[in-house]
Amino acid sequence: MSDFIALPPRPRLAMDGSELRFPVRRIFCIGRNYADHAAEMGEKAEALFFMKPAEAVTQADVVPFPKATENLHHEVEMVVALGDGGKPVAAGIGIDLTRRDVQSRMKDRRAPWETAKAFEGSAPIGLLKAGPPPASGRITLRVNGEIRQDGDLSQMLLGLEDILDALGTNFEPGPGDLVFTGTPAGVSAVKPGDRIEAHIDGLPPLSLTFGE
Ligand code: MN
Repeated sequence: MSDFIALPPRPRLAMDGSELRFPVRRIFCIGRNYADHAAEMGEKAEALFFMKPAEAVTQADVVPFPKATENLHHEVEMVVALGDGGKPVAAGIGIDLTRRDVQSRMKDRRAPWETAKAFEGSAPIGLLKAGPPPASGRITLRVNGEIRQDGDLSQMLLGLEDILDALGTNFEPGPGDLVFTGTPAGVSAVKPGDRIEAHIDGLPPLSLTFGE
């Protein structure tokens, strides 16, 4: 039986030291998971989840600058990749790109965040490294060589196990799902042509340049 229309292929992420690819199903993101970032956003440190579509991922060296924003923010995060039973099988570095101006307007209206968070290319991700995700280690992000975010994974309010527990009470996490685990303080605006370099101890580094 043929399909009525043809779909684009499912996005697949390259992995460190392997020819294998990680096929992406859903992207779950936790908000406000570092106390200092929750404070800079003027929010109480209470866990919340939102999602991006699989099509948000990109591993391109040059990422087109998103339309419809005057205030695009970077949020560097550890990304955990799930396998059977929702168990972590790999980890990498991700950037939760956010149209902060749009998000502010939607917050004012108590409206959903998709237009701020879920656009195509809103989830740049580095190479995934197979194995258990690190529980501690420095997490940094530089823009044009200047450090903007500098924290430690151990500062997460909810650790990975707690995040997965919370996720599991609401969803059935499984193979192909990715989890963005939150960002430390220092989020700031980027513009076309800017270069981002992100680092988490023990994971493959991520770098990208925004197109004009
Ligand atoms: Mn985030």
